[in-house]
Amino acid sequence: MGRTAVVTGASSGIGAATARVLAAQGWDVVIGARRIDRLEALAAEIGARAIPLDVTDQASVDAFAAALERCDLLVNNAGGALGAASIAESSDAEWQAMFESNVLGTLRMIRALLPALVASGDGVVINIGSIAAREPYRGGGGYNAAKHAVAALTRVLRIELLGQPVRVTEIDPGLVETEFALVRFGGDESKAKAVYQGMTPMTADDIADAIGWVASRPAHVNIDQILMLARDQTSAQVVHRV
Ligand code: NAP
Repeated sequence: MGRTAVVTGASSGIGAATARVLAAQGWDVVIGARRIDRLEALAAEIGARAIPLDVTDQASVDAFAAALERCDLLVNNAGGALGAASIAESSDAEWQAMFESNVLGTLRMIRALLPALVASGDGVVINIGSIAAREPYRGGGGYNAAKHAVAALTRVLRIELLGQPVRVTEIDPGLVETEFALVRFGGDESKAKAVYQGMTPMTADDIADAIGWVASRPAHVNIDQILMLARDQTSAQVVHRV
């Protein structure tokens, strides 16, 4: 069996594009997400293995991990934002859901697969953060807090794994046109479109390209952090639009 790459949240956007890149690089790719129909279609297209996965559910994570024979690369991509309410008006439910998928989901996957990553002799963990992990912005409350937590978790993991054969990377994208904004705004297409109005966002393929590059560095090289922005964006709230 060849080197195995796990991609969470591969039914859409960055995760699906990453699975394509890694399959093309020759990895045995295992993809997880809740929408199994999409996952199976992608798996058939690229020769990957699809396993249902809800990173907010420990039993689902355990079943996913138990189905793997090995794991050399873990891309923790599942997650996203819900809403853009102010702190004053934000709901516990949205905060909890964002923490469950982005933070605890990443934590659960790492705990489940770390023994296999260490055993591989050259494991790689790539966590997908966000510019929201670095900069607060108006209406970002719960998502900023969740992605800051992902960043903290990633850096602690890097420190704790020093001396072990596992590399740890955080990739923080700015605006990428995927289903992210549609999910954030509860399926409201006009609000989602407005996020990318008049500017050229990055694509899922751009981020997948970086993930493939990180995963293909030699074993002694750890790419710690990457902040990736569209040319039209210089910070969380500064975007050039025509
Ligand atoms: P997307 O198109 O909405 O994809 C999100 C993926 O996460 C889907 O495959 C979804 O699959 C999966 N997911 C969500 N909750 C899950 C759960 N509980 N268990 C398993 N999978 C789950 O958005 P995207 O832009 O590709 O987002 C990917 C990552 O990039 C996220 O972590 C997001 O926060 C981050 N990011 C995105 C942007 C951007 O501008 N697009 C910028 C910075 C960071 P199912 O619904 O089928 O489970």
